[in-house]
Amino acid sequence: MTERSFSERMANFDENYPVILEEMARAAADSGREAGDITLLAATKTVPLEVINHAIGRGLSCIGENRVQELLEKYDGLDKGHCDVQFIGRLQTNKVKYLVGKVSCIQSLDSMKLAREISRLSSAAGLVTQVLVEVNIGREENKGGVLPEALLEFVDEARQLPGLHISGLMAIPPVCVNKTELCGYFSAMRQYYVDIAAKRLDNVSMDRLSMGMSSDFPEAIRCGANMVRVGSSLFGPRQTPRP
Ligand SMILES: *Cc1c(COP(=O)(O)O)cnc(C)c1O
Repeated sequence: MTERSFSERMANFDENYPVILEEMARAAADSGREAGDITLLAATKTVPLEVINHAIGRGLSCIGENRVQELLEKYDGLDKGHCDVQFIGRLQTNKVKYLVGKVSCIQSLDSMKLAREISRLSSAAGLVTQVLVEVNIGREENKGGVLPEALLEFVDEARQLPGLHISGLMAIPPVCVNKTELCGYFSAMRQYYVDIAAKRLDNVSMDRLSMGMSSDFPEAIRCGANMVRVGSSLFGPRQTPRP
């Protein structure tokens, strides 16, 4: 397969973006909310910088990268004045130093080791890094995330660290055979989110429930997501998939 040209990818975005926004608005209305209550984060792995900046020019206001190296390659060129940049991928402790001060949120906090390193480097820089706790909602061995049964204790321990603020939860549910099963996972996430919010813990604010991707973002919104992470449905299929 040949690489699609930048202009082709830009045209893909221009065509897909209003459709996604429309679907998001409909799902928001179905769950008694407004379009403005849901944030679209564009998952921009493998998307060239030029195409991302084009999308920002069309109104895209939030992106997420999931590889540190790729983020750093794009970072200086990104139109950051008009777009929030977040990190959504699996993160090794030794790479935290490249993200602190660069991304507004790390959505993939899944271990105390990682939390302590974010805390240490953010404190040293005089910053507070926003984090979402990633939940391994399907208890899948090959996926990152805190196990559901360990979530409360994890939040309670991590929130005591200086230099980070827990602002929500993130999940990537398992591949499901049907919508009922899928919504079971999304609804479980929503319940954890509500339960943690109800505890009114210091240094924890449940502002973001990040779940839903290209294949399932309307269901995620109907089940309570207020941030969806959409990649291929916005930019077209990824032709150079990365593991
Ligand atoms: C790639 C990615 C997405 C978006 O996936 P699509 O299926 O292309 O929409 C969302 N979240 C994370 C963490 C990702 O890595």
